[in-house]
Amino acid sequence: MTKLGFIGLGIMGGPMAGHLVAAGHEVSGFDTNADALARLEAAGGRAANGVTDAVADAEVVITMLPNHPQVEAVVLAAGGVLESAKPGTLLIDMSTIRPETSIEVAERAGEREIRVLDAPVSGGQAGAEQASLSIMVGGENDDFAAGLPILEAVGKTIVHVGPHGAGQVVKAANQLVVGGTYALIAEAIVLLEASGVDAGVGLDVLAGGLAGSRILELKRKSMVAREFAPGFRIDLHHKDMGIALAAARQADVALPLTGLVAQLVAAGRAMGHGSLDHSALLKVVESLSGAENKE
Ligand code: NAD
Repeated sequence: MTKLGFIGLGIMGGPMAGHLVAAGHEVSGFDTNADALARLEAAGGRAANGVTDAVADAEVVITMLPNHPQVEAVVLAAGGVLESAKPGTLLIDMSTIRPETSIEVAERAGEREIRVLDAPVSGGQAGAEQASLSIMVGGENDDFAAGLPILEAVGKTIVHVGPHGAGQVVKAANQLVVGGTYALIAEAIVLLEASGVDAGVGLDVLAGGLAGSRILELKRKSMVAREFAPGFRIDLHHKDMGIALAAARQADVALPLTGLVAQLVAAGRAMGHGSLDHSALLKVVESLSGAENKE
């Protein structure tokens, strides 16, 4: 049993914290949203009254926050994790953020003898609820070994991919593949429907052939039915495409399809779909063929 502090109990963090309680750990959680705290209490965790309260006694701290400004506020700022946690504590940041922030957090944490892993996840809300996430971990070998038993309570595929920040780079690669796949499935639906072919039937065939993918498997029915409740919000995917493009710039490489998909995701947000699931990229692709005018 480990004493855990868990900050960020949203769509992903909420069920993850619940699995850690179920695995026998003592979880003190904090979130600025009162409903999220109530869900943790209902799952058997303790609702802390702030970051300091959540992490002061912890052996391991997990953060699952939207983006780098929230990670900076919760971890680096006065009263944050680095100031409040004991030396020797292991901080596992599972948020998807830019690699340079993960590297900065690791450097600043080292000054206070706090160990850090960047451990972003893939698998979505379903993966969080079923404890079947894929987790890409950056950091030191010993810290990975120490964190592994904790991560096994929330994930199935857990891989140490390199030094601090490497987990975030792998996640950026994941997000550009996911975004591009959604965009192409959206184009397939638009083509099938405009040609008078049943898109559901057409995608069933695609899912069984070389074009098959986990996204086609899990999302083709809801996309054809235009069900876009999140899931993973367009706003968050917009953030992730920005991370991917910045990482490409940093690495001095050209990723033209990533650039195009980033613009489609940006259009989705600008069209007011930021709170919808990222499969709502279909609405953007449809609008390019004048969907509104045909209704
Ligand atoms: P979310 O918005 O549902 O959850 C984030 C939580 O953090 C919210 O409950 C919010 O109240 C809380 N929060 C924000 N600022 C805070 C602060 N200063 N102190 C305490 N709590 C604070 O987002 P999510 O979908 O759970 O995503 C979390 C992270 O996981 C993001 O980086 C996202 O990119 C990544 N991710 C999400 C999915 C997904 O399918 N939703 C999949 C993989 C990765």
